[in-house]
Amino acid sequence: MPVRETFGLVPPGTVSIFYLVFLPFAAVFAYGLWLRLGRSGLVLAILRGPGGLTGAVRRLLLNVFLQRRVGRRARGWPHLAIFSGFITLLLATTIVAIDWDIARPLGFRVLNGARYLYFEFIVDALGLIFVVGLTGALVWRLAKLPQAGPDQRRVQYQFLALTTVLLYLGVTGFLLESLRLIIRPTEWANWSFVGAHLAAMLSGTGVEAIAPTLYNWIWWAHGLVVFALIASLPYTVFLHAGAAPLNVMAQPGKPRLELSTPFDLREVLESGNFDVKPGVATFADLEPEMRFAVQACTNCGRCDSVCPAFAMGTALSPRRLVQTLRKVMLRGNISDDVLTSKVITAEELWACTSCAACVEACPVFIRPVDYIIPFRRELVSRQILQKRQSDFLANLGRSANPYGLAAERRAQLAEELGSKLDSQ
Ligand code: SF4
Ligand code: SF4
Repeated sequence: MPVRETFGLVPPGTVSIFYLVFLPFAAVFAYGLWLRLGRSGLVLAILRGPGGLTGAVRRLLLNVFLQRRVGRRARGWPHLAIFSGFITLLLATTIVAIDWDIARPLGFRVLNGARYLYFEFIVDALGLIFVVGLTGALVWRLAKLPQAGPDQRRVQYQFLALTTVLLYLGVTGFLLESLRLIIRPTEWANWSFVGAHLAAMLSGTGVEAIAPTLYNWIWWAHGLVVFALIASLPYTVFLHAGAAPLNVMAQPGKPRLELSTPFDLREVLESGNFDVKPGVATFADLEPEMRFAVQACTNCGRCDSVCPAFAMGTALSPRRLVQTLRKVMLRGNISDDVLTSKVITAEELWACTSCAACVEACPVFIRPVDYIIPFRRELVSRQILQKRQSDFLANLGRSANPYGLAAERRAQLAEELGSKLDSQ
């Protein structure tokens, strides 16, 4: 009967060494995760979001597993292929571990008979989609690299490295499968159709003689790169693979154009407690879900591409603003006043038109405008205003209209405007 042969071709004792080698990588991963999540307030954000934990899982299924926003654009399709392949391979590895480490010692197998054959077929099919998607993404990234701005280069190189590493894992995975079929041919080999084709291509090249040694080398090279990838997750752009789904779960579920309000004026008046903070000046002052969201930013620039202020050549780039806050968080300067230090400038904050196009465009559900408004409120409360803005506010306060017109001029102005509109 067909049955999954895990660790069947590596020398005895290798598995124990393999798990021991994994320990330091796991420790680096756990430390990084603590660094990233410890300051973020993520758990609080997920639990207090709409629908609590159930709502969070629902958003995860709709927006992450179905990749609704990413798949909308043509360039999102390689990502969709990589995502589906990655999730399948992750699930497949989990099933293999359950089969080998839990089911087998208990005296039964998950991966045997017809179940095992279907498993092999599905994993090969989605693994192939994974490799094709990665190849497309690699070509696209290489073609786009010269257009990346100086502050985007580092992230683009990281994405290139990540894509290459994932492609390496996909290809070595298929190579291992083909070598396994060369060393131990089976009647059901064709269910692993990619591996079987590769094995047929390699047979007759003399690889049979060195296949067991080659298998061992590639097996270790594959495993060590997987460990390194896991350890690097919290420190590199690969973080978005974990942070983006969590950010989607932590979403407050606000409509696109809804802006935050610092307090409820009616409640303040009723309570008589006027000790309220209208704006924010530090990263630590932001809401928990906003503190976490910056970690999901992939520096993709989709927000810039739809931002009217960016298109006009103003100081504002929503991508750069989110990335700046991300750096503030990663460096641990979360209590530093980013307005006084001019890490975030008044020019960029005032350039925003609050159109929320960036909110609609962001594939990982970050709301750049939600960072701009509270910082801008703080500028107002500190009276860091350009003349035009202070005149506007003074006119509102003095004359109850932004033009500073006397009340008796209102009727006349309305009449003038009315006749102008009529003549148009
Ligand atoms: S809300 Fe502000 S940052 Fe976002 S797209 Fe509009 S102008 Fe740009
Ligand atoms: S905020 Fe969103 S759209 Fe903008 S660069 Fe980051 S991930 Fe991309």
